Amino acid sequence: MPTHQRMEIAQVLFERDDHLSADQILMRVNARHAETSKATVYNTLRLFAEKKLVRELVVDAGRVVYDSNARPHQHFYNVVTGELTDIPGELITVEGLPAISDELQSEGVDVIVRVRPRT
Ligand SMILES: [Zn+2]
Repeated sequence: MPTHQRMEIAQVLFERDDHLSADQILMRVNARHAETSKATVYNTLRLFAEKKLVRELVVDAGRVVYDSNARPHQHFYNVVTGELTDIPGELITVEGLPAISDELQSEGVDVIVRVRPRT
């Protein structure tokens, strides 16, 4: 995979803390140079997620976003607007987790607080 395409994907991702879908990233990358394929974007995102440069966040069935904020944090998700907002990690503690078996270690806990406008 050409390195400069990977660099452009990284540039779009890490411009600021954001939650972008693969398609949004593809659109932004190609807005600069229309040469990057969907497969390249998906493969690069998978690689970045494996290396923990981005966090892959499954918000809903059919909605996966890539989170460029590397600091520990959780999320508010507005189910009506689709907006995701960061909750700083220190604001949430999860208590009462069951014990994990000796062969396993924790990879982390993801909290998504689903909200909607009051009616
Ligand atoms: Zn986030």
